[in-house]
Amino acid sequence: MNTEIISITDKNPQESALARAARIIQSGELIAFPTETVYGLGGNGLDAEAAHKIYAAKGRPSDNPLILHIAFPTDAEKYAEVSPVYTLLAKAFMPGPLTVILPKKAIVPRSVTGGLDTVAIRCPSHPVAHRLIELAGVPIAAPSANLSGKPSPTEASHVIRDLSGRIPMILDGGSCEIGLESTIVKIEADGSLTLLRPGGITYDALCMVVPKVKVADAVTKQLAENERPLSPGMKYRHYAPTAPVVLLDGAPEKVLSFLQDEQKKRACAILCYMEELDFLTPRLLFPVGGRNDLKAQAQSLFRCLREADLSEAEIIYAHLPVQTGMGLALYNRMIRAAAHTVQQIS
Ligand code: AMP
Ligand code: MG
Repeated sequence: MNTEIISITDKNPQESALARAARIIQSGELIAFPTETVYGLGGNGLDAEAAHKIYAAKGRPSDNPLILHIAFPTDAEKYAEVSPVYTLLAKAFMPGPLTVILPKKAIVPRSVTGGLDTVAIRCPSHPVAHRLIELAGVPIAAPSANLSGKPSPTEASHVIRDLSGRIPMILDGGSCEIGLESTIVKIEADGSLTLLRPGGITYDALCMVVPKVKVADAVTKQLAENERPLSPGMKYRHYAPTAPVVLLDGAPEKVLSFLQDEQKKRACAILCYMEELDFLTPRLLFPVGGRNDLKAQAQSLFRCLREADLSEAEIIYAHLPVQTGMGLALYNRMIRAAAHTVQQIS
């Protein structure tokens, strides 16, 4: 299949290109498009066949459900049983990087929800994503636009590398602002929330709106072999480059000295902090941002993982993130990329 790549920026929304993309969605085919989190691979969310095409293009197991993207927060009631807590969350965080799990209505095919009775709903704030959904006139089912298991794409070039030849069109909207996938929460029967995946909306921000928020074990811990995760995506190897990733934990000066020694011994890629650049040999360094700039780290993490993976490095080192604020989302992605390999440096 020939994949058409269309550059489409906020300043230059190119209504006619978006209208054509919307028609492709309506015809049952797929489009990769930018959102404020990562690039999505979208199809008509009410069409079971389109969902099958998404799983096939990504090589994704079909029990790992897709997120239904809507143009306006109130559209949720067409596809799911909404509750007062949903309305509170929508007022506070939508449009934006929050996905809410709700009981699904019959109109949503089970192939979209991986066979579950619940559906994941998100209303993206990115103008291209918003307009595409609006013009399509249907909700757009979309997971991240990467091959299954690879880091999510935060630039069109990542999507081109993974999906070129597999889908008819990629909309290039530049770099994604947040760089990590949406926060996913489930609304429980008692109105409390379970945080299934941390992202751009932090745990603290959620607690300001809903008093009781529980963090699912799988966010930070490795599940036992037979344990069933609350969010099917959590059981899969994820964000993983081909080279092994090792996370380093220890005092900053000790970790730096360990990295200096390692650079002498082997071809190691290092996802380093800006502050470390002057103290390391400038080879296979992938600066993720300032040590305390979690926002910059989130934005560049997946790009750095991809670039490190394309290099000749035999091992990839990165710092173990903190678990507060945006750090929890970074921690959650890194611990998966590293298959829970953490090395203590003392
Ligand atoms: P992706 O956008 O590629 O990260 O994929 C969507 C994510 O949403 C997956 O990790 C799923 O596990 C999660 N998800 C989608 N629908 C549901 C649902 N009904 N219940 C729990 N998690 C879900
Ligand atoms: Mg994904």
